[in-house]
Amino acid sequence: MSYQSPISPGRSWYEDTAGPRPEYPSLDGDRTCDVVIIGGGFTGLSAATHLAKAGVDVVLIEAHRFGDGASGRNGGQLGSGQRAGPEEMEKEYGFTRAKALFDLAEEAKAHLLEFASTNGIEIDFRPGHMNVTHKKRELSDFVDYADAAERFGYPHIRIMDRAETAQKVGSDHYVGGVYDSGTGHIHPLKLVVGTARVAREAGAQLFENTRATAITTNGGKVVVTTPTGTVTAQKGFVALNAYGGDLEPTSAAHIMPIGSFIGATVDLGADSPVLSGGESVSDSRFVVRYFRRVKSGELLFGGREIYAVNDPKDIHIHIRRQISEIYPHLKDVEITHGWGGYVGITLPRKPFVREVMPNVISAGGYSGHGVMLSNFVGKLYAETVAGNRDRLKLIEDLKIPPFPGGRRWRAPLLFLALNWYALRDRL
Ligand SMILES: Cc1cc2nc3c(=O)[nH]c(=O)nc-3n(C[C@H](O)[C@H](O)[C@H](O)COP(=O)(O)OP(=O)(O)OC[C@H]3O[C@@H](n4cnc5c(N)ncnc54)[C@H](O)[C@@H]3O)c2cc1C
Repeated sequence: MSYQSPISPGRSWYEDTAGPRPEYPSLDGDRTCDVVIIGGGFTGLSAATHLAKAGVDVVLIEAHRFGDGASGRNGGQLGSGQRAGPEEMEKEYGFTRAKALFDLAEEAKAHLLEFASTNGIEIDFRPGHMNVTHKKRELSDFVDYADAAERFGYPHIRIMDRAETAQKVGSDHYVGGVYDSGTGHIHPLKLVVGTARVAREAGAQLFENTRATAITTNGGKVVVTTPTGTVTAQKGFVALNAYGGDLEPTSAAHIMPIGSFIGATVDLGADSPVLSGGESVSDSRFVVRYFRRVKSGELLFGGREIYAVNDPKDIHIHIRRQISEIYPHLKDVEITHGWGGYVGITLPRKPFVREVMPNVISAGGYSGHGVMLSNFVGKLYAETVAGNRDRLKLIEDLKIPPFPGGRRWRAPLLFLALNWYALRDRL
């Protein structure tokens, strides 16, 4: 059996299809460097790559293996703009600021695709994404969304009627939506493996199976302690997202982990009506369903849920039930892989970036929209180290509030809220 993450449930389809996954050593002894990064997902690995390419002496430590958190196990959907639609962002921040945030996210998308192609990383990109709804009353929201996207200078979104939605999705479950031809989906673990390779080739010192047990500042220096040595640096970057536990309390107060689960079916065959155009889909449910057909024909179907998964086999049961709601003919489909991970969410569902101690910046809380954003935030952190903090500041200025209820009460409070929204999804 192939490798399986010890911190996220179930063996993912990605682990069996990513190709060779080179191992990196553990930290052995004390080191000094310019920048120390904690966490080896997209955020940390991207920062390490861009820093090393700029000639910065950088050490990255990862508690397990690169990609064992969310980055190697997610739905692979890039989306467009920020997680909140341009019309919502405009209402909240006004046109100029909302457009700057939209443009930043679009640059993130372009950067991801260009980074992969210029560095020879095959990420299995497939174009096309659909945002759909099963509620007629939500159709006007999609018109507002498409209008705002056009005003923001994004020409790739158009409305789909019920018939087109049914034909493209391969199901009459949804009543309409939008088609976005300017985005698509990728194999996330291939991007993790490739980014680590590029970081190492650029001179970053990368360590796996090295858990940070403390981060402190001492005489203006940042000191990260691990069981096998310390790293002392001028600056530190905390890139733990939903997996940080209590290591850094400010990040923990602002970013909450929430489980999300995916199942992979067998190859549905070339004549299957399911997503025959190869697009990805996300629906408008609060407990969102997200799914896509990969090149080799399998359906990867995800749903964020509130049930506790004690046994990874349970994932198969829940995912098959969700698949059959949309595709009744697949009610007995064979699920070959069921896995999950933790999405880092913030209260307003916008990313969190903050200087949490002198010379230590933390980033995360992409709220399910981190595939393109987390990679780009890593690059923006490298820009910050080089002396230009303007673009990272666009995100820092979102001024994310902490979750109410503290560490003890926020999970039960969220559980109640999610139950309420899950109920509304069914109305
Ligand atoms: C099931 C699932 C589906 C998703 N689908 C999508 C999607 O379709 N589109 C989208 O845009 N986003 C999606 N996301 C979110 C996206 O994956 C994340 O936003 C993104 O990967 C965050 O990257 P990261 O590097 O910040 O965090 P992670 O990849 O979680 O990395 C954090 C790392 O920190 C390490 N770590 C923790 N503690 C320590 C320590 N003490 N010392 C050292 N290392 C430590 C962990 O082992 C982990 O590897 C999904 C997430 C999940 C879980």
